[in-house]
Amino acid sequence: MKYVYGPVPSRRLGQSLGIDTIPLKTCNWNCVYCQLGRTEPLVIQRDDYFPPEEILAEIREVLDFHKPGEIDWVTFVGSGEPTLHASIGLLIRKVKELSDLPVAVITNGSLLYLPEVRLELLAADAVLPSLDAGRAVLYRKINRPHPEVTYERLLEGLIAFRSEFAGKLWVEVMLVKGLNDTEDALQDIAAALSLIEPDEVHINLPTRPPVEIWVQPPDEEGLLRARAILGDIARVVHPAEGSFDLSEYDNLVDAVIGIITRHPMRQEEVERTLEKWAPGQVEKVLADLATSGRAQVVERYGVYFWSAAPSHFPDEAQSMRTAPGRQPRI
Ligand code: SF4
Repeated sequence: MKYVYGPVPSRRLGQSLGIDTIPLKTCNWNCVYCQLGRTEPLVIQRDDYFPPEEILAEIREVLDFHKPGEIDWVTFVGSGEPTLHASIGLLIRKVKELSDLPVAVITNGSLLYLPEVRLELLAADAVLPSLDAGRAVLYRKINRPHPEVTYERLLEGLIAFRSEFAGKLWVEVMLVKGLNDTEDALQDIAAALSLIEPDEVHINLPTRPPVEIWVQPPDEEGLLRARAILGDIARVVHPAEGSFDLSEYDNLVDAVIGIITRHPMRQEEVERTLEKWAPGQVEKVLADLATSGRAQVVERYGVYFWSAAPSHFPDEAQSMRTAPGRQPRI
């Protein structure tokens, strides 16, 4: 499978069938917490990066394969920003024709200022955009966007989309210790959220390997502060511990690569998943993975994660050059 992966467990979306419509790290942001490595270069062009008919053929095959109850949501997400695919609207509408499953789009929201992108996402049941800052300076520090996707455009797009979209708007706030978990930063985010009026606010923590080595999740105090300031519609979303589904694959190395390209996995998650789908072959598949040249092991917070080989995770010296206090003034 080239475009479809999982289902993978998701706290908010149950067993979520992932649809990835763009090449690895095709994104107009370069977030300090990105679990897929650095964005090099930033991409702003919307395009049919992969042919929509090919993507749809795969989606159709996977939906036919799974029994009712095995998938809770079909989710456009993956290895970059999904709204950069020029046919995202067509793909959402076709999935809705193929199945009764609800469709979600996990997006950074930066292109919602474009009327055509808002129109394309209207067919989804839930849209989950990001808002990590309530001011342009902090936005540029955390999300390191392409110059065309300004903070003003992000906010303008989110407000406009809310007024047009009847589905669930769940705004995601990724909290990074020392950057947006302070009283001032959280008050700014709360003020922006009051203009957007989302249905829910999901507070996320950088628990998968953040690209920059200095990124840390907030401590308990920072989390309590966030919940208090962001209000009753905000809740902390911890990573789900469900089962990764490899049933669709003949080749287990391909199956694991398919997931870690979009969703790096801890060593024990890979082992647990392989024990379920290939008991007795765990050691062999791990050894094949290590020698495949298609995977790498990344260490963050003292934890080892399997990630796709092309993802660029800088070493400590490179990463520390981008740490707050070392960055040039914006
Ligand atoms: S976290 Fe998402 S929006 Fe940010 S750089 Fe990674 S893929 Fe792009």
